[in-house]
Amino acid sequence: MAIADSYDGFLIDLDGVVWLGHEPIEGSADALNALAADDKPVAFVTNSPRITPAEQARILQEHGIETDRNRVVTAGSTLLTLAREQVGEGAKIYVTGTSGFLSQVADAGFDALPADRWNEAAAVLITGHPQFDYSELKAASMAVRAGAFFAATGRDPTMPMPDGLWPGTGSILAAIETASGRTAIVAGKPERPIFDAGLEVLDLPAGSRVAMIGDRLDTDVGGAQNAGLDGILVTGNDSIPPGTEITPDYEISSLADIVA
Ligand SMILES: [Mg+2]
Repeated sequence: MAIADSYDGFLIDLDGVVWLGHEPIEGSADALNALAADDKPVAFVTNSPRITPAEQARILQEHGIETDRNRVVTAGSTLLTLAREQVGEGAKIYVTGTSGFLSQVADAGFDALPADRWNEAAAVLITGHPQFDYSELKAASMAVRAGAFFAATGRDPTMPMPDGLWPGTGSILAAIETASGRTAIVAGKPERPIFDAGLEVLDLPAGSRVAMIGDRLDTDVGGAQNAGLDGILVTGNDSIPPGTEITPDYEISSLADIVA
């Protein structure tokens, strides 16, 4: 019996599972198309807020995977869903992020304020970007201190780059939390909102068996298990470090193993 037979649907991480830096991982497209043929719904769940669900879906399609933008959930799209629930579409908000994320904010119908109008912001949304500066720190923390809804895509302090670890969204968020004295809600893995967003895409009846498949023990597997789902770890050629408290429900070397 294949692992896939034990589940009704899957949440699937992108980087390290479907592709590595957008280079497709061998067998992943065939495995995904086999799940589709078997009527097992799939949602792609990624913490990357930089490119839109539509762009992620286009890359998946280029790799021969049948999907569409509505099946891709990012930390950015989840953050915007949270904000819409809290302050309503069309609300004035203060946002830090890349131009890619800012265009998603505009597409979602929000009115993104300049830094000097922070006092009108109903919500403050944080994603990391390389031009983050003091005026953004000041606007974000003062709006949060004044009571704005406060949320971020993630809390990872660093991100791996070819020359080492660069400061990530978590480092910027820590500065705003320190300056404002408040703690943000986090949309991305390992926190719950992005798993809930993925489950909504699957649209399965209550009690259905769903597993998250990812390559990170803490964010993918640990986050899924905290959200009440199974967690399947793609180890590649690595093994689980000794002393780790999280135990995956299955360990596979690549996505192809779940339909084998
Ligand atoms: Mg990954």
